[in-house]
Amino acid sequence: MAPDTVEQRGSELRVLSVRQPWAWQILHEEKDVENRLLPTSYRGRVAIFAPESPDVGALRRLPRIAPAWVDAPRQYELGAIIGVADLVDCHDASWCGEDQYGRAIQMCSPWARRSHQHLVLANPVALDKPVATRSRFGLWEPSARVLKSVLEQLDP
Ligand SMILES: [Zn+2]
Repeated sequence: MAPDTVEQRGSELRVLSVRQPWAWQILHEEKDVENRLLPTSYRGRVAIFAPESPDVGALRRLPRIAPAWVDAPRQYELGAIIGVADLVDCHDASWCGEDQYGRAIQMCSPWARRSHQHLVLANPVALDKPVATRSRFGLWEPSARVLKSVLEQLDP
């Protein structure tokens, strides 16, 4: 099916909720794996949504884990879609880097964690204008309004 209309393209886009500062790191610091407990069969474009509540522990470690953010606090967006990426793969940590005892050998990315599902992300693009929307968990379908606001910035 050709992606001629917003409605058709909408079926090809999901929103992935990722707490800050990790959402920012996907878009700006080459964080190419999102670690989850559950796998997904979805492949395709995902909008990266930063929920209202950040990862407070991670924010305390910001100078170490996101040094560039310390110099760019204006990018601290919450409750908004801040960019898009392609979800190109999902596999279990045991597939890419654990031995039979669950010890890490060589993960697919420095961002990959043991005992998780690795959602592999590529081609990140930050939005010029973050799109505010309601918080939801996991991988979800955006409303028509939100979808339009995101796509307008990608394909003007
Ligand atoms: Zn992996």
